[in-house]
Amino acid sequence: MNSQLNGRRLAILGFHKIGEPPPGGWASWFYVPETVFASQLRYLHENGWQLIDIGRFLKGLLDPESLPSRGALLTFDDGYRSNLQVAIPWLQRFGYPSVMFVPTQFIGGHNVFDDGSEPWEAMCDWDDLRELERLACSIQSHGVSHKGLSWLSPAELDQELRESKIVLEAGLGKPVEVLAYPYGDEGADRALTTAALKRAGYRAACLYGGGPNPVPVADSYRLMRVAMGPDTDLCSALGQQ
Ligand SMILES: [Zn+2]
Repeated sequence: MNSQLNGRRLAILGFHKIGEPPPGGWASWFYVPETVFASQLRYLHENGWQLIDIGRFLKGLLDPESLPSRGALLTFDDGYRSNLQVAIPWLQRFGYPSVMFVPTQFIGGHNVFDDGSEPWEAMCDWDDLRELERLACSIQSHGVSHKGLSWLSPAELDQELRESKIVLEAGLGKPVEVLAYPYGDEGADRALTTAALKRAGYRAACLYGGGPNPVPVADSYRLMRVAMGPDTDLCSALGQQ
C-alpha cells in the first residue's frame, strides 16, 4: 500500500441553495436547480462515489483505512430553510446523509450577511435544525456572525468559534466538531486559527474551493471542498480516472 492508501480520495461537495430563488429574488450561481442537483447526485451514485455521514467522516480522519476509496460528503452552507424543503427530499430518495453549516446569529432569521448580493432567504429555525438532524443532516458550525476569519481580532476569533459550538450543542443536544469557514476565509494566520479551533474543540474545518482531498488528509483543519453551482462538471471536478 502506498502513502496515499492506494489513491483513496475524499470529496467534500459544498452547496448553498437548491431550487428556485424566492418570489422577487433573482437567480445567482449559488442556486442549483433541482434537476441539476438530481443529476449531480446520480453522477456520484453511477461513478462509484460512496456517500459518508459525519460520523464516518470524523472516524476517517483518525483511521484513513476506514474510508472508502472514493468517499463523498455532501455539505450545505448557511442553513437556508429551502434546503429542508427542496434538497432533503432528494437526499432521502438517494439515501444520502449530509451536513449543514449554520452561522448561529441568523437561526430563525434571514441571510442579512449577504447584504444585497444574494436574495433575501428564510433561514432554518431551531425546529427546522432538529428536523434536519432527524433526517440525517448533521448540523455543524459556520461561526456566529458569518464574518471571514481574517476580519476578526484573535479574541473575536476565539469567541466566534467557541460561541457557535456551544450554542449549537446546547440547542441540539449533540456534539458539534466541524467548522466551515465563512467565505472559505481561514484567517490571516494559519497557526493562530488552528490553535483556536483546537482550543474550542473542533476536529476539522472546511475551506471553499479545490478538488477531492487525498487520503490521508494533509491537514484536517484545511479541507478542500468542491464549490457546487449549476455548471459544476463533476467529471472534471472529481478527476475521474
Ligand atoms: Zn456561508
